[in-house]
Amino acid sequence: MPSATDGPIAHRPPRPPDPDGLGDSLVLPKWGASSVEQLAGATGTYSKPSSAISLDKEVEDKLRALSQRKKVKRKKSQILLNVTLTKYSVVRLVAEQFGALTGKDDDPNCFLFWSDSAVPVEKIAELKSYQKINHFPAMGEICRKDALARNMARMIRAHPDAYSFVPKTWIFPSEYSIFQNYARDIKRKRKHRTFIVKPANGAMGHGITLYRSHEKIPLNEHMIVQEYVDKPFLLDGYKFDLRVYVLMTSCDPLRLFLYHDGLVRMGTERYVMPNDNNVDQLFMHLTNYSINKKNDNFERSEDVSTGHKRSIKYLNDYLRKNDHDVNSVWNRIADLLVKTLIVAEPHIFHAYRMCRPGQIPGSDGVCFEILGFDILLDRKLRPWLIEINRAPSFGTDEKIDFDIKSGLIHDSFKLLNMKQSDKRRGLAAQKAESQRRLFGQAKRSDTDLTDLDKKRKSIEKRKQELKEKLAQVRRENAREDYENRNIGNFRRIYPPPDKFTAEKYDTLMSDAFHLFLSGRASTLKRDISKIFGGNLKEDEILDQLQQCDLEGRGKSAKGPRPLASMPSVVADEDPETDGMTYDIHEDDATPSELNSSTSSTRVSRPLGRATQPSPMLKQRPQSAQRPMSRPMSAAKNAYTTHRSRSLTRPSSSAMQNEEEAKAHAAAREREDELTRRTLCALNEMRIKFPGKTDEEAGWILDQINDNWKYHKPRIASYWLVKLDSIKRRKVIDIVRSNVRAVLQRTWRSSDVDSLRLYRIFNRVFNRLLWSHGQGLWNCFSTSGNSWETIFSKSSDVITPPEMSCCRRIVKLCRDCLLIVYQFAAEAKGQGASLSASIGEGVTHSNTRTTPNPSKTPIPHRSTLFSRTGTMSPGVAPPMTPLSQRMSRIYKSRSFDEL
Ligand code: ADP
Repeated sequence: MPSATDGPIAHRPPRPPDPDGLGDSLVLPKWGASSVEQLAGATGTYSKPSSAISLDKEVEDKLRALSQRKKVKRKKSQILLNVTLTKYSVVRLVAEQFGALTGKDDDPNCFLFWSDSAVPVEKIAELKSYQKINHFPAMGEICRKDALARNMARMIRAHPDAYSFVPKTWIFPSEYSIFQNYARDIKRKRKHRTFIVKPANGAMGHGITLYRSHEKIPLNEHMIVQEYVDKPFLLDGYKFDLRVYVLMTSCDPLRLFLYHDGLVRMGTERYVMPNDNNVDQLFMHLTNYSINKKNDNFERSEDVSTGHKRSIKYLNDYLRKNDHDVNSVWNRIADLLVKTLIVAEPHIFHAYRMCRPGQIPGSDGVCFEILGFDILLDRKLRPWLIEINRAPSFGTDEKIDFDIKSGLIHDSFKLLNMKQSDKRRGLAAQKAESQRRLFGQAKRSDTDLTDLDKKRKSIEKRKQELKEKLAQVRRENAREDYENRNIGNFRRIYPPPDKFTAEKYDTLMSDAFHLFLSGRASTLKRDISKIFGGNLKEDEILDQLQQCDLEGRGKSAKGPRPLASMPSVVADEDPETDGMTYDIHEDDATPSELNSSTSSTRVSRPLGRATQPSPMLKQRPQSAQRPMSRPMSAAKNAYTTHRSRSLTRPSSSAMQNEEEAKAHAAAREREDELTRRTLCALNEMRIKFPGKTDEEAGWILDQINDNWKYHKPRIASYWLVKLDSIKRRKVIDIVRSNVRAVLQRTWRSSDVDSLRLYRIFNRVFNRLLWSHGQGLWNCFSTSGNSWETIFSKSSDVITPPEMSCCRRIVKLCRDCLLIVYQFAAEAKGQGASLSASIGEGVTHSNTRTTPNPSKTPIPHRSTLFSRTGTMSPGVAPPMTPLSQRMSRIYKSRSFDEL
């Protein structure tokens, strides 16, 4: 028997480091093939290995029958699969069920390439859009032991609790002294640890040694040292590990499926905690099949409850019978799998984008991969990640292998959804693209364009982007529907089924990307964030498209087309206008009156009624006033951009255990609390008039409101006519950027875009800009809460505090418009607009005459504003972020532009 203390049991030296960093499994496995392979070898291209173990008769019959049946079907099918680079007959046999096999690499009808080892990136790059290959680039980042340790270490530093499933690991020789310090420290505390030393790029247990004393560990190149999990869960007294299969169908966005069955691989000597006498007994401490099959004790069995290789199904039954919580074990394992692949995702995503640069995000990618995770359960049934294989063995030495692996491959192929129409569609898209390039109009330089044309062009561009996003979201929804119908023995683990878990993963994903990008070229950062930008759901995209349509249509006539709601007479360069009609239902309602009907308060005071649920909310049953599922937040989410559907689906499985339900409730409470805090902060916010105190600004707003009839036509003219869409957006952006700052502070998140609350606010902002600013203008009418209808069509239910925040934001935007309008009037020497209204009373809106500043007694500014103290720099009240921004704009004179 090989001895660990004698040195590594490997008779082969560890493999040299992988030059392209793609992982150990890039090398074709050399282990012996099974008799299934011999069987297939007779019909296929595979040559029969001499060391094959004979397979059960029943399995052989099954295989023969299967291959006969498929031969009949083969002619009908047009789908070709290239499996020449596999030595596993089970792969070929299953492939035959999905189409005909081909040996030609360049056959355009070939839909699938299967290789036992990883493939060069050039191969991935040259695939047609409808073709698939069974490896992703850069998977070596988690499949090589040293790369896994390096990438995990970064994530562990950022999220030690989330990644506590990885045994402590050191990469030698670089971390030799860190390791020695740690081991000495442990020793000082009189604790004892066993360490397992493995070649950095090893496999199948080669070169593995156990050490009880850290001093004896040699300083070798290319190896890793790991804390040994010394209290494993035992099955009949034997240590075992699990071979768990995960199917990754896409990296952009990430899609992961966990197979419901797998292998339980047991040691062949009864387990005893490591001591000086048994550390070299590798049949006891290592669970690799390739090692244990060499032991005379190794038992193959037809009976699922005996033998040294069993199924995960058997283990689940065993655990259930012994009153263990199987669901909780598998939820933990699924969590481990997702978190591990989150670490790999930025590397894979980037490498994939590099070789498929033109691929539309969310479209079916060309790569998929079946990964074999080795997982150890400790005495408390806590899973530990041991390693990940990108070329797990599909050898079928025993019936159990065949049953599990053929099912796994079959269900994987099914999920890939290869069909003839993909090819037709792919070729058509390719043709369209080449024609576009060939016949595309030469670009007109922007300098030749009129302002109107430029605007039209930018709207068209935006529309095009939105349409692409919409198509992407719909493609993903269709794909998800297909997956749900054909999920087979898989369970989707990413995107997760519930929003709470999604939110948790989003945070990790965001950090994984940040870690990956830190120190990289800013162009790469920009590219990735562009890909990930815009967290829009289908209904939000539709909202925005509608807005673009309206804007585009409005500009299709020569010059601005008057809206039904726009003033019929436009005063040039003067906010004061005659004879205007507006789309306000009660002409004479002042903003103050409107406040009381819609949001509640006077300009300079917080909203008193802000927390009252809106009529819309009141109509709903109480249960519906809670969001059905929680939002994602705090995460960068390019990433989650694409998965709106799966996130909104309520989870049944995740709610299964009480622990998760509690966690849900806690997260909900926390979020409600943060929303309430946001509301308080928003209520504290004031729009600052540049150079004036808050009181003075409040006073200005009061004056405008009190003399609404006078100001109304002027403000309407200013907002709806004078300002173009860019300037209108600038006004709204004053509030938007300050609201973002509040969210950043309150939610302690640098990634505000991914907060559900911000997404809600964004819909409100968009609504206010809707139809040339008519959205905001409507808010000055008695039906000032009509913007709330944007939520009535949405699948998301808005909570009362969220609605109150939205109302406050609408109020701030209205105040902002009034202040900007007043400022613009004063800047043009027409402080008259405010003062005239005072001098003349409120008669102007009825007479609809333009006040003549020379005839109107204009009080001096000093009579309008009490300057005592407040204007002196020493006693000026501290500036709110909003006032700071206003002041900055003021200083940069961009107000004048408005
Ligand atoms: P290889 O790729 O060479 O198979 P692994 O990392 O999978 O190397 O380790 C081989 C076996 O050693 C595992 O199947 C497991 O039984 C055991 N093992 C590895 N690491 C640990 C550990 N940290 N604690 C306990 N057992 C381990």
